[in-house]
Parts: sequence; C-alpha cells; structure tokens
Amino acid sequence: MYDFKKIEKKWQGKWTKIFNSKNKGKKYYVLEMFPYPSAYGLHMGHALNYIIGDIYARFKRMNGFNILYPMGYDAFGLPAENAAIKASEHPKKYTEKSMKNFIEQQKALGLSYDWSKKLVTCYPDYYKWNQYFFLKFLENGLVYRKKSAVNWCPKCNTVLANEQVHDGRCEYHKDTDVEIKQLEQWFIKTTKYAEELLKEIPKLQWPERIKLMQENWIGKSYGTEIKFKINGKDWPIFTTRPDTIFGVTFMVVSAQHQKLMELVTKEQKKEVEEFLKRLKSVSEKELEEMEKEGVFTGSYAINPLTNEKVPVYVGNFVIAEYGFGMVMAVPAHDQRDFEFAKKYDIPIKIVIQSKDKELKEAYTGEGLLINSGNFNGTASKIAIEKITDYIESKNLGKRTVNYKLRDWLVSRQRYWGTPIPVVYCEKCGIVPEKKLPVILPDKVKFGEGNPLATSKEFTNAKCPKCKGKARRETDTMDTFFDSSWYFLRYCDNKNNKEAFSKKKTDYWMPVDQYIGGAEHACMHLIYARFFTKALRDLGFLKFNEPFTRLFNQGMLHGVDGNKMSKSLGNVINPIDMIKKYGADALRINLMSLASQDKDSNWSDTSLESNFKLVNKIFNYFEKLKPKKSSEKVESKINKAIKEITVDIEEFKYNLAIIKLRNLFDVIENNEISKKDAETFLKILSLFCPHVTEELWNKMGNKSFISLEKWPVADESKINEKLEQEEKQVEALASDINNITKIIREKGKEPRKAFVYTIPNETKLYVENKEILTRKTNLIVEIFAVNDKNKHDPQGKAGKSKPGKPAIYIE
Ligand SMILES: [Zn+2]
Ligand SMILES: [Zn+2]
Repeated sequence: MYDFKKIEKKWQGKWTKIFNSKNKGKKYYVLEMFPYPSAYGLHMGHALNYIIGDIYARFKRMNGFNILYPMGYDAFGLPAENAAIKASEHPKKYTEKSMKNFIEQQKALGLSYDWSKKLVTCYPDYYKWNQYFFLKFLENGLVYRKKSAVNWCPKCNTVLANEQVHDGRCEYHKDTDVEIKQLEQWFIKTTKYAEELLKEIPKLQWPERIKLMQENWIGKSYGTEIKFKINGKDWPIFTTRPDTIFGVTFMVVSAQHQKLMELVTKEQKKEVEEFLKRLKSVSEKELEEMEKEGVFTGSYAINPLTNEKVPVYVGNFVIAEYGFGMVMAVPAHDQRDFEFAKKYDIPIKIVIQSKDKELKEAYTGEGLLINSGNFNGTASKIAIEKITDYIESKNLGKRTVNYKLRDWLVSRQRYWGTPIPVVYCEKCGIVPEKKLPVILPDKVKFGEGNPLATSKEFTNAKCPKCKGKARRETDTMDTFFDSSWYFLRYCDNKNNKEAFSKKKTDYWMPVDQYIGGAEHACMHLIYARFFTKALRDLGFLKFNEPFTRLFNQGMLHGVDGNKMSKSLGNVINPIDMIKKYGADALRINLMSLASQDKDSNWSDTSLESNFKLVNKIFNYFEKLKPKKSSEKVESKINKAIKEITVDIEEFKYNLAIIKLRNLFDVIENNEISKKDAETFLKILSLFCPHVTEELWNKMGNKSFISLEKWPVADESKINEKLEQEEKQVEALASDINNITKIIREKGKEPRKAFVYTIPNETKLYVENKEILTRKTNLIVEIFAVNDKNKHDPQGKAGKSKPGKPAIYIE
C-alpha cells in the first residue's frame, strides 16, 4: 500500500502558494457557493461541491487560464448564535473554531484554492462594506422602513423569512409556533429591478429548472386593477380574469392587510380577532396546500360593473404584499374561491358557459360569457380586453402588470450579523452613520430579547448631524446581504479604501463558472443578481449579471438511498474516509458515483475499488521503465485526451473516470513511453492530485504537475480500426456473459464457449482470445463457420453474421 498520508501532507505543504492568481492573462473565475462554517465541520455534500469545483479549476488552469478560485466563510447567522447560546460560548469564538476546523478539512481534500483571497463576513474589514452599501442604497432610495406583517419566532426573538418557516414552526425551533406581528422593518427595494431580473433570465447559461424557478419567483402577470367601493372608499384589487367580474360573489382581504381593521365592523370584531389569533405563519408553498379559511368582516363591497353588494371576508390565503392584499372572488371560475364558497355557503354564479350544468368544481377554461349584461355572448378571451377597455373608459381601474417578487425584508433582531449603520435622533430622525464600520460589540447579554439592545455603550450614540443624543439602531442585517456581493470582494479582498477596485472587478468579473446547490435558486441567486444591477447603476460595476454559467451538483445520499442524517445513521464523514483511504481515493470515488448533476448514493465498495485502483496506479508508475508506446497505447491515450477534455468541460467526470480506468488497463498490459505515461498522470491529476504530483516528481520532473499544460490529442494517432475491433471484442464478451448468466440461472455451470465467426473475422477474435477468457471466465474456442473440424453439436454456426459471431456454450 502506498503511503498516502505522507504523500498528501507533503504536497499540500508544497502547494500553499502555487495556486495564487496572477494579475494578467486570460482570466477564468471559478467559484463555489461559500459555506456557513458550522461546528459539525465539512459534510460529504460540501466535499462533493468543492471537489467538482476544484477539478474544473485545475482543468482550466492547465488549459492556460489565469484562475481565480477563492474560498471564504459566510460566518454570520442565526445558527451560530443559537448554537453558541446552547453551548454558552460567544458566537465569535464558536465561529472561529468552526472556521479553523473547516479550513483544515478543506485543505485535506487537496483543493487548489488561492487562500490569499480568503474572506470572512463576520470580520469588520468585510462587514464595513455591507454597511457602506446599505447607506448607498438608503441614499438612493433602495432601502426604506415600513411597518409590515412579519413572521416572528418568540424563541429566536427575531423575524424570520418565509423560507425559514415550515408548517408554521420555526426552522430552528421545531416546537415553536411562529407568530405574525406587525413591525417596523427595513426593506430593500428589489422590486425596482423585477423587470430586468426577469428579462435577462433567458440569456443566462444556467440550468433550465433554476431559470424557471426564478421566473416563477419573480412571477410577472398581466392583469387589470379594478376599484371596488367599500364603505364609500376605493379599494383596488388586481385580477388576471376581469372577464369573470360579473361572477364576483364575495371579496377576500389578507389577514395581514395593514388596513384590515378599517373593514371590520363592531359586531364582527371579536370573531375576526379570534381568527387572527389562530393564524399561523406559513410558507408560500404551504399556503397552496393548506385549508382555506376566513371570517366575515361585516363590510360589503360594491361591484363597479353590477353595483351588487358582496360580503368582504378576511382570509388566510391572500398575501398582503401581492396585488393589493385583496382579491375579488369568483367561485364558479376559480377553484380556491369555489372551495371557500362551498365551505361558507356563499352563492356561486356562473358567468362563463361550460358543458356541465352543475359545477362540481370551478370551471377555469374559456367560453362564452353569460349572466354578464352587455358582454353576454362574448368569448372570454376577448371579454378580458373589452371589459378592461370599459373599466378604463369609466375610470374604474386600469391595465397593469403585477409581480410576485416582493421587497427584501432585511432587518433582523439578532446579534450575530452586520449592525445596520443608522441612529435615531429626536431632532433629525433617521441619520446615517458617518464613521464606518459600526463595530459589533463583544459584550452583550444573550437570551433577553435583542442582545444588541443590552449594550448601553452600543445603543447610546451621538447624532452625526446635530451632535445631540441619539439611539443607535439595534437591528442587524439578514446574512443574505453578506452573500449578495462576496464574489466581488474576492477580486480585491485586501482593499481597505474601497469594497473593491473597479479595475479588478472589471478584470475578474463576472464569475465564469458558479457551482452550488439548487436550494439557492431563488433567494441568494436573486439577491446577488439584484445587487449587481443596483451597484452597476450606482457606478460601481460595468456589467449586468454576476454569474455567467451556473452548475448545480446533485445530492449525495447515504448507502441506503436516503438523505444522510444522524437519525438514520447513514452519515459518512469525509475526514474519516480520508484517514482510511486518502483524499485521492475519496475524490475519485465521489466523482465516479454518478454524473455530477445527478443525485447519487454513497458506496463503500466503490470506495474500496477506487482505493485499489489508486494503489495499482501508484505501484505501476513507481516501477515504470518507459519504452516506446505500442500503437494500441498511442491510439488509446489520444482518444482518451480527446474525449475526457469534453467530459470535463461538460461536468461528466464519471465518464472521464471510466475512460481513465480502461486506459490504465491497456497501459498495464502494453509498453508505454515516458511522454505518454506523463500524459496519463496529467489527466489523472484532476482527480488524484497528490499521488500524481508524487509520481510526476519520481519521474524526474521538477515542476508541479498541477501547473502543467493540459495534453492535446494527436488525432492522427487514433487508430479507428483498432478501436472498432476492440468494440467488437467487447460486444462478444458481453454476449457470452449474457448467455452464461441465463445458463447459471437454470442451475448449470458453463465451462466453455465456442465462437463461430465469418472467415475474415476469425483472426481478430483469435488474437483477442486471452481478453475474452479474462472477461468471461470461460475457456473460449474460436472457429470460422466453414471450419470442418469445429465442435458445433447444436448447429449454431449458421447464425453467425459479420461483426456478430454465433455462440455455443457448454
Ligand atoms: Zn426560532
Ligand atoms: Zn440629530
């Protein structure tokens, strides 16, 4: 067994600076989504993500690009704070410890990062620029304060994003109901860029499903704004189906609507309040699946087209921020409204003709309008336009577009984040800090509401404008703020005068290849795109999109095909595997499990087999006495270069590994030149960088194989005839194996295979008899079909065809 521990340590030590980026040349920026450093350390999903990126960075580097391949830590965040409180440890200490552990583990994987570019979001030299951009946004109307209904976890003592709420419970406190509170919060005006964010999606070289998720998240729809009168006041609603307006039998207002109580009558107040108390916070997805409920507000709305009075309900399924937080309900033609009307016994009025006389469910299709006054007989599609024309002419509303995308609620009532750099002055109001960074104080009390509020030194501030007494903002920023621009800071991470120099971002940006999980399809990737556009318009950047190409790796599951989890006991720790088999074996194994964009299951046997392979390769090359390559080796190696180059470019590393294995089989059984042996090692170095550096060095090279040029295929050396013949032999072996399998299933043990070929192919198979024997574990006899002495008791020979010999097995 080769001493992988020694070899890996040795080369990791020698690599410390060789992967640092230069300032010139054709650039290529490879980036993995940076991790949140948790105390549990690196898990196998991380390892998978980073190895995919590392192989790609190594490949591009060997192809002559000046590579930026950095790593950093998304170090702020609730989990650190919660974990630190549980362990009675300061979040700073907890995070430092976790990061140290993370870095050691990442180094053990042999990743070729430029460590001089490291950044840590919880350090003042980073979050200072968070504060700077926040104030820039504030100055330019991209940040504002607003009272809004928010998800509130009483245990976390902070607002949660919708995505952090599952089944009405907090992500971190699974036993705690999330409450809905009306609070003043800071928002970022992401909606200002809704149209551009949407419009540029088709141009992105991203997975189609991610692009579709973003499109749905932004959720543009064309529709009509219509004003309904309630208690003498105009209440606008948004609808994509104005053709059904004659079928409105009730209205539903969001339970989180700011002006809800204006609609609630004295008689209904108690019932509505009880309803509101029962409400749980839910995510958008849960909203679609949950039971729709509501309570009558006591008010009636007047349909502007029919002048009919319809009741207004408060409902749990209307989102306050979407449209106007109120909808017109047409139960006959909307399934959600239909279920609600059935439940509360509200009339259902059909206004679009369908085949069914009685509705068992809402009819949402097209048809001719009925019960719709002057519009009767109009096709619904045309009616959408005609009714909207009418509404516009009577000044009852207008054509409009609506987006699902909402402004980004960015404030958190937590400690472990970037302080929002403003003070509240009685005289001047909200005043931005002049001196940045506003440092997060170390000494605070945890477990008594917002920890920052417990530090008098922090909260007592001087107003930068009037120098009078002021109170410092105690909210911190959502950590998605930190991750919205970190890729820019890598380009110039030591700059203490600017967040980054324009020259450097002009050179490095955009990120050429971004790699990460699909779970970030919407929030992180939308925020990063928003930031890029906003910073462009503020003059910081010259480009429109941050990530040219995006790759989503598949999920790695346990041996049993389930998600790796402690409770299932199927967690595999990458560091344990490195200790046992070395990083090279782990790397090649992880990449061989499946195509990189597909989910895969962990396999111990495959790790064992890859470990054996690495050992065999090491032993073979260590003792190699190079000669002249055989024609077969030359053909194989050039074909491998040609095909593997494409496989790596397409993230089909698993296919590349199969080809490398087959190539090694041929090399082992043939003669090989020094140059071809080195070519093999160069290709293998993407997957097994340590062992190949060692062998490269043992062959007398003084350079690093990791910095060598990627081999170029000499296509004239590829012997297509040889390749074709080999395929034929492969096919014959697999045909024999299929037959023996059937024979074995019948309980017999075959010993000999008789092969009958057309006469001019006999030589080919005779020459490959040994390979056939090895691949089938049978004694193989080859005959030409016209051979009079052949053994053929069942007369199979007659079935033989060119390229497909007949087979008899006994
Ligand atoms: Zn919580
Ligand atoms: Zn002041």
